[in-house]
Amino acid sequence: MTKLNELTITAARDALRAKDFTAVELSDACIKATNDAKALNAIVRLDEDRARLDAKNADALLAKGDAPNLCGIPLAIKDIYCVKGQQTQAASHILDGFIPPYESTVTSKLWEQGAVMMGTANMDEFAMGSSNETSCYGAAINPWKNDDRDLTPGGSSGGSAAAVAAHLALGATATDTGGSIRQPAAFTGTVGIKPTYGRCSRYGIIAFASSLDQAGPINKSVQDAAIMLEAMCGHDAKDSTSSPRAVPNFEADLGASLKGKKIGIPREYRVDGMPAEIDAIWEKGADMLRDLGAEIVDISLPMTKHALAAYYVIAPAEASSNLARYDGVRFGKRAELGAGDGINEMYSKTRAAGFGAEVKRRIMIGTYVLSAGFYDAYYTRAQKIRTQIKADFENVYAQGVDAILTPTTPSPAFGIGDMKDADPVMMYLNDVFTVTVNMAGLPGISIPAGLSSNGLPLGLQLIGQPFEETSLLSIAHGLESQIQFNSKLNQWWT
Ligand code: GLN
Repeated sequence: MTKLNELTITAARDALRAKDFTAVELSDACIKATNDAKALNAIVRLDEDRARLDAKNADALLAKGDAPNLCGIPLAIKDIYCVKGQQTQAASHILDGFIPPYESTVTSKLWEQGAVMMGTANMDEFAMGSSNETSCYGAAINPWKNDDRDLTPGGSSGGSAAAVAAHLALGATATDTGGSIRQPAAFTGTVGIKPTYGRCSRYGIIAFASSLDQAGPINKSVQDAAIMLEAMCGHDAKDSTSSPRAVPNFEADLGASLKGKKIGIPREYRVDGMPAEIDAIWEKGADMLRDLGAEIVDISLPMTKHALAAYYVIAPAEASSNLARYDGVRFGKRAELGAGDGINEMYSKTRAAGFGAEVKRRIMIGTYVLSAGFYDAYYTRAQKIRTQIKADFENVYAQGVDAILTPTTPSPAFGIGDMKDADPVMMYLNDVFTVTVNMAGLPGISIPAGLSSNGLPLGLQLIGQPFEETSLLSIAHGLESQIQFNSKLNQWWT
């Protein structure tokens, strides 16, 4: 029999409603799995009392009948979502000891549905990274392994992805500024969706680059993603960029025929040096969509080659401004000060001690590109490229393309340490297929597509039209049913 923690949200929702088991039993299974999986460092804080209390309350709601979709479902929460009364620090020492006095809008929506807080998920510091190695808690480890080396689960939502892949929680929240939901999903054989910019409220989510940041879930299946995303979305007056559009039923079109759907294959995503197996799996995905009745068309997104460079100007620029608030006065840590130290020493000593190397690098790049003499040369130019990237997609969608198929990442998971000490640009190259989607504010989903020649998961990405998540999920669901990814990882950690 499948262990309770190994169930999908979809299966657990139906079984909880049918009273096959209780929410307390389900969360106990996740608590045990989490305690047994310390080696993964995926969940960095587990409050067992909170989880059991949430589960008990969920059981009471379930007993009344008509409980919401997520009632009794144990979820891991990325350490970037403020959870009232629970330490939240975006994996940064600068927020050591910070206990938010308020709740993020997204998590409050989850708790309203009766979801169970299963613990805090590891991540890269301030969501900057693609390997979870910049975390103040140390790296999270990928539950997938093909020899004795530890692999990265990707980043920045590495802990969320590892927790879902290892069945420590049934789903997890994550955030995506340049690929941080989709890349870890690809590396761990899970499903990750970043909705359209404005779908989820950013209120109470610690900011990295505000014009790019979006919340979204990491899940075990496309249907789970539809259920969880729907619960996370909705207009919020507390976020001025939140969309007033009604949230449709994201499960509505799952299983619908893909006949007549037009899927674009962007030729610019065939990058130099891309491994043949990535190309092969991409082609296989296109063939499967064709078998399902979709029309496959070649498309061009000519500005793609500039996306990464423009992202690594815009994201650090916004980060340098967002992170100015961590100064030792209001939040978290304040460095030890000497007798003659004044306010400037307090700022500089606190920031020097509190931020890690990658965060400091981004603050310096961001400050530089925003400085008076260089603003036009870097920031203004990057913004112009961003506008053109958006126009590329608009063009393609105006020609009737419903969604775009690409690989999610240029490689499968790499080893812990492999890239950390290399040129930082090597790490940035991981985001080559994902950043365009954030720059254009579009929805994008990664689904598991198969295994690499060395036995590790690979992902395919589908990019949708703005606010057309229902259609995007339906196409992803069709492809998922065709791929039938059912490879199981080897549970080496217990
Ligand atoms: N890897 C990218 C970066 O380091 C994206 C991170 C993210 O999406 N939060 O900026």
